Amino acid sequence: MTTMTPAQWYEWTLWAILLSSPVVFGVLMLLPAAYGRHKQGHSKWWGPGIPTRWSWVIMEAPSSLGFAAIFFAGAHALQWAPLILFAMWQAHYFQRSFIFPFRIKVRPGDTTPVSIPVIAVVTNLMVSFLNAAILSWDGIGHGYPASWLTDPRFVIGALLFVVGYRINRKADAMLAALRRPGETGYKIPRGWLYERISCPNYFGEFLIWSGWAIATWSWGGLAFLLWTLANLLPRALTNHRWYREKFPDYPVQRKAVIPYLL
Ligand code: NDP
Repeated sequence: MTTMTPAQWYEWTLWAILLSSPVVFGVLMLLPAAYGRHKQGHSKWWGPGIPTRWSWVIMEAPSSLGFAAIFFAGAHALQWAPLILFAMWQAHYFQRSFIFPFRIKVRPGDTTPVSIPVIAVVTNLMVSFLNAAILSWDGIGHGYPASWLTDPRFVIGALLFVVGYRINRKADAMLAALRRPGETGYKIPRGWLYERISCPNYFGEFLIWSGWAIATWSWGGLAFLLWTLANLLPRALTNHRWYREKFPDYPVQRKAVIPYLL
């Protein structure tokens, strides 16, 4: 029996994410993932609920800890350019895994069906492999010498990443601030990018991973951008429709997720 090389594992994982992205997009256009405001009324096959905060920690921790384990297994992990890209990734995923879940205003007793974190753990590990191995492993990707840090692709990508990161963090913080202690309902978010789009947090996410794909100039980065779009574009459209149905006075000029466009 022949064993697969790391490069072959990489190729298989890459194709799995690239090919499943359009399928995920299609499914989520028809059937919104059953968490948050779209959980009610979903069939039991999503599985029993677990506390929403812990669901976030469980599903996102592999993208921080798993990524770190894969990255530091690589021969080039302690070089400057891989380390800086590693720090960018962790700036997002450490906060998403271990800080964000304790900042959101979870409705008392709110749960998330267990199938959501289970699917997310598997796919987040695959995506982490694609994006960590590309940075530090031998024989995968084009390599990141120190000169990469002055390459226009890195500079432009890193700038986009930082802008997206700021937008995503601010948008999430504004949502968390909508509920005062004891409140459980939904309100129309007002001000800043919310005057233009319903989901600036997803817009920020798109910029982050576009920036990452450019800064790494890698198939792994591109695959993760497609995967993020496949997950969050349908969700943004569903959230936008939900706002319009729930609030008759919802501002008509607002788009769903791309200012002036979509
Ligand atoms: P949502 O905008 O649906 O919700 C975020 C939080 O804000 C939840 O606690 C939600 O409460 C609350 N909230 C949302 N809208 C309102 C409102 N109008 N009034 C009061 N509270 C509100 O975001 P997601 O949960 O889908 O995502 C959270 C973060 O995770 C985002 O930054 C997103 O970009 C990121 N993410 C990234 C993915 C990727 O593929 N890279 C995939 C999924 C998420 P409740 O839960 O009660 O609805």
